Amino acid sequence: IEETLVLVKPDGVKRQLTGEILSRIERKGYEIVDIRKFTPERELLAAHYAEHEGKPFYEPLVEFMMSGDVVAVRVAGDRVIEGFRSLAGTTDPTTAAPGTIRGDLGRDWGLKVQQNLVHGSDSVESAQRELGLWFG
Ligand code: ATP
Repeated sequence: IEETLVLVKPDGVKRQLTGEILSRIERKGYEIVDIRKFTPERELLAAHYAEHEGKPFYEPLVEFMMSGDVVAVRVAGDRVIEGFRSLAGTTDPTTAAPGTIRGDLGRDWGLKVQQNLVHGSDSVESAQRELGLWFG
């Protein structure tokens, strides 16, 4: 059984979409193994987003992620890494497919960072690394 890290980002928490997002994960048949809600500090986000350091959206992304509570979820299931990314939809919420979390619930706000409601690990290696960062 595979595990992934899902984050409900501050836009999702503020808009009270946490339940809707967790419900989609459960309805798909994945298991919520662990969950915590807190406002992440810069150090954690710098480690989490290390691959994006130096990109134009990096600083706005870190500021956005520090702007409020995030819900971090350890999710388990067969092929859950690929499966959750499919549930989430593509990065840009304006063009994400209807039926996905970002496509149904997100839109572009004309900001410097895509406030696209969720994060999901993109590989087994990223999932292990990110679960270690967010859950210790
Ligand atoms: P995530 O990793 O959060 O699931 P993703 O894999 O779709 O999203 P990444 O390329 O890993 O996207 O980028 C991480 C996050 O940085 C995105 O979710 C989005 O919030 C922001 N982001 C990425 N690319 C851009 C961009 N070109 N402009 C603005 N924000 C961006």
